[in-house]
Amino acid sequence: MIETKDVVISGGGIAGLVAATAFGDAGFDVLCVEPNPPIAENSAKGVDLRTTAYLQPAQDFLEKIGVWKHVKMHSAPLQIMRVSDVGVEKLVTKDFNAKDISDQPFGWNVGNWQMRAGLMMRIDELPNVEIRTQITTTAVRTRSTEARIYLSDGHQISCKLLIAADGRDSEIRKHFKIPMRRTEFDQLALSFAVTHTQPHENISTEVHKIGGPFTLVPLPDHEGSPSSAVIWMDKATEIRARHILPIEDFNAAITERSGHVNGNLKLVTARSVWPIISQLSDRFDAERTALIGETAHVVPPIGAQGLNLSIGDIKLLINLWSTKTKNHDTTTLLSNYSKPRRAIALGRILAVSALNRLSMADNSLLLQARSAGLSTLHQIAPLRKNVMRLGVGRR
Ligand SMILES: Cc1cc2nc3c(=O)[nH]c(=O)nc-3n(C[C@H](O)[C@H](O)[C@H](O)COP(=O)(O)OP(=O)(O)OC[C@H]3O[C@@H](n4cnc5c(N)ncnc54)[C@H](O)[C@@H]3O)c2cc1C
Repeated sequence: MIETKDVVISGGGIAGLVAATAFGDAGFDVLCVEPNPPIAENSAKGVDLRTTAYLQPAQDFLEKIGVWKHVKMHSAPLQIMRVSDVGVEKLVTKDFNAKDISDQPFGWNVGNWQMRAGLMMRIDELPNVEIRTQITTTAVRTRSTEARIYLSDGHQISCKLLIAADGRDSEIRKHFKIPMRRTEFDQLALSFAVTHTQPHENISTEVHKIGGPFTLVPLPDHEGSPSSAVIWMDKATEIRARHILPIEDFNAAITERSGHVNGNLKLVTARSVWPIISQLSDRFDAERTALIGETAHVVPPIGAQGLNLSIGDIKLLINLWSTKTKNHDTTTLLSNYSKPRRAIALGRILAVSALNRLSMADNSLLLQARSAGLSTLHQIAPLRKNVMRLGVGRR
């Protein structure tokens, strides 16, 4: 039997779940399929212990679609971005305060597993959204009037819009033969959470040396102690060695690498390792299909851009889809989604990749230029404010 839905979302990562919630909240009949069982506890095997900083526009959207009330209690505001450069002899530290550009923090940091749990709570409130786990999309056939989705349990679904949220190795992108450009950096990111002896005061600190940034992002207290999420980017060989350092040695290494900004650091979660790549699909659309999230773009984890970009994708897609008239030309609509979103993603990838290369620098001229650039950027108020606005996705 063929079932009918308005929208099918292939992939129940955070991008897929946000899309399911947004389209459900707008009144569409939605099915989201995901191969993995639901993970809504931090002790479960395979849990994603990373955190994500939701910048102002993303938080605003999550509030509008009814998700934020389920995660607010797990969030920590990011009021100040502190950038410290210890690459040259003289330490340069500059603060970028969100109050310079608005009365809101830059964003709010939330654990990925807590966001998934919050999204599932919101989806439970929406009778028109169905999530099927332990199911894979096995094939797709499209024509001008519908997309037909074939699932691993033998079901077939006919829908008006297929959203491909099946991640960086997307089968749907391959099915449509959409080329994808990928850049690999010889770098890895180590992601974990710590407690520290000094409060973070809602300051997110990025410490640059060589090899890549070491970033502390505020979290709510952990068992009564101030806590932060950490992303440590460095050459692949260095990160692999640190991943297996005994805990005591690791605590000493991270405290030293952080420049003691929050006092002594103590590891309180597992450590996970992530490759640093950038990736961009040539198009974000195909017949009756929209590509969102990491299916469309992967950005190195600097400046909290990746998932924030994905939420921007969903925002535009739903605006276009909700306002379409009955006879609207879907091909044009999807092209009106793809072109601007791809241009924005390309801009973010270029900017973040350039920052990453600067932050990896180990040549003294580049290190001096980096340090001087930071001071100049901070000194010129209009430039500083523009960069901050761009960083949070507000123009
Ligand atoms: C260390 C690190 C820190 C980060 N920090 C931030 C941050 O602070 N802010 C920010 O904005 N971004 C951040 N990012 C980026 C962000 O984590 C990613 O953009 C996001 O997790 C990707 O979500 P996604 O849903 O697009 O993809 P995924 O999480 O990969 O989801 C894809 C889903 O599709 C499913 N799937 C695969 N194949 C199929 C199939 N055939 N059928 C159905 N389903 C399928 C998979 O099981 C998976 O669940 C960070 C990234 C890293 C590595």
